[in-house]
Amino acid sequence: QVKEKGRDAIEFFNQEMANKVSRQLVMEGDLHHAIELEQFELYYQPKLNVQTGELVGAEALLRWHHPDKGAISPMEFIPVLEASGLILQVGQWVIEQACLQLECWGKLGLWRPGMRLSVNISPRQFRRQRFADDVVATLARFELPPDSLDMEVTEGIVIQHVDETIETMTALQNHGVSFSLDDFGTGYSSISYLKRLPVSSLKIDKSFVGDITVDRSDRVLVETIITMGRLLDLELVAEGVEHEEQLDILKEYGCQFYQGYYCSPAVNADAFRFFLDRGAQ
Ligand code: C2E
Ligand code: MG
Ligand code: MG
Ligand code: MG
Repeated sequence: QVKEKGRDAIEFFNQEMANKVSRQLVMEGDLHHAIELEQFELYYQPKLNVQTGELVGAEALLRWHHPDKGAISPMEFIPVLEASGLILQVGQWVIEQACLQLECWGKLGLWRPGMRLSVNISPRQFRRQRFADDVVATLARFELPPDSLDMEVTEGIVIQHVDETIETMTALQNHGVSFSLDDFGTGYSSISYLKRLPVSSLKIDKSFVGDITVDRSDRVLVETIITMGRLLDLELVAEGVEHEEQLDILKEYGCQFYQGYYCSPAVNADAFRFFLDRGAQ
C-alpha cells in the first residue's frame, strides 16, 4: 500500500519534472528569436527620494511580450536565459537599449545631472570574459550624460572569485558606472565583502519591506541594514514600497531612496516621461 503510494508520488513527481523541462525547452526556443522579433522591451520604474519625493533615477526592467502568451514574468524567463546562456546576448541588448534611452532623454534635457538609470546584470553575464571591456566599448558609442549608468548585481556574483569581481567593478567604476547590491538581505550578506566591494548602494529586498508595518523582526532587520549601510557610507534604496505607512517608517530610519507601487510600477519609456517632466519642474 505504502509502496504503491510512493511509486505514484515518484511518477507524479517525474511527470511534473518532465512537464517543467519541456515548458522550459519550448520557452528557450521562443526566446531564441525574441530579440530579432522585437518582443523585448525595457520598462522603467521611478526611484525617488524618501524625504522629498523627488525623482532621482529609475530601474530598467525587462519585459517580454510573447506573441501568443502575452506578457511573461521575468521571474519565469530570466532563469531560462541564464541556464541557456542566452542571457549574454539579451543582457548586452538590455545595456544598449538603456544607453540609447539615456542618450535620448539626455538630449531632450529630461535626464538631469546626478540621475542614474540602473540595469540588472546577471551573474553569468557579469562573469563573462571581457565584460568590463565590452561595456566600456558600448558606453563609448553613446553620448551619455556622465555617471548616468548604474548596475544592479546580487551577492551571488561574489561567492567565488572575489578579486576578479572587484577588478571588473573597479574597471567600470573608472568609467563612471556605479554598482548596487540588489535584493540585499536575502543572500549571504557577508559584511567583509561589503567592505571590499566598490558598491555605492544597497537595495533592501522587498520581502523585508512588505511586512515592515506589521512584523517587528522585519522592522529590526531593515533598521539594522540601514544603520550599517549608512555607517559604511552606502546609499540605501528600499524596494517594494506599496503604502504610505511603509514610507513613513523608512523615513524615520533614515533610508534615502525608494521604489515601489506606492509611486508606480515599471512603465514603458513613453509613460515614464510623465515622471521626467514632473521631476524637471
Ligand atoms: P529585481 O531587480 O529585484 O526587481 C524588482 C522587482 O520587483 C521587479 O519585478 C519589479 O517590477 C517588482 N516591484 C517593484 N515595485 C514593487 C512593489 O511595490 N511590489 C511588488 N510586489 N513588486 C514590486 P520584475 O520586473 O518582475 O523583475 C523580477 C526580477 O527579474 C528582477 O528583480 C530581476 O532580478 C530580474 N530582471 C528583470 N529585468 C532584468 C534584466 O534586464 N536583466 C536581468 N539579468 N534580470 C532582470
Ligand atoms: Mg533590480
Ligand atoms: Mg531587487
Ligand atoms: Mg528581486
